[in-house]
Amino acid sequence: MVVSRRSIWVFHLNTGGCNACDIEVLDLLAPVHDVERFGIKLVASPRHADVLLVTGPINVNVFDYVLRTLEAVPDPKTIVAIGSCACGGGVWFDSYATIGGVPKLLEILEERGIPKPSVVYVPGCPPKPEAMIFGLAVAANMIEKKQRFEYVVAEPSTEDRELLEVLRNEALRNLGAASKLLRGG
Ligand code: SF4
Repeated sequence: MVVSRRSIWVFHLNTGGCNACDIEVLDLLAPVHDVERFGIKLVASPRHADVLLVTGPINVNVFDYVLRTLEAVPDPKTIVAIGSCACGGGVWFDSYATIGGVPKLLEILEERGIPKPSVVYVPGCPPKPEAMIFGLAVAANMIEKKQRFEYVVAEPSTEDRELLEVLRNEALRNLGAASKLLRGG
């Protein structure tokens, strides 16, 4: 999976969602979650973005627009599919009015010989902001840094070292399981 190794800029595209995912996306920018502290920034143009953040099941009538938007994102690009609709169509997975989410978009790209972007899936209806942050952190390659424990800088005592080792092993187990769930093809 190709991931960004720096701060990531994100273009948010609602492809036919009910707006609840979008409200939670906006929540990421508010002071409680404040994703800009991780270098994650919403941008106004796909031409400035590393990540296309997709909400909604991709309605048929916006499909061409989605393709044009995806094409405008410079390579290497990543799609972060937010919500059950984007992850697989949600309750509209077999509706005549939608293509059925990002997996179907990837199939169509393959059929047309268009290179497929990396994808991170964040399921939920809507997903919690924390899950969205985790998905974006996977796209930004922050998780592997944390797994390498790069952000621990203190000189711990022996007792603290033992505690840190226990916490580290627990965190690695949880992150491994969560990464497996969230990573897409
Ligand atoms: S996943 Fe749920 S909350 Fe998000 S757009 Fe679909 S129906 Fe709405």
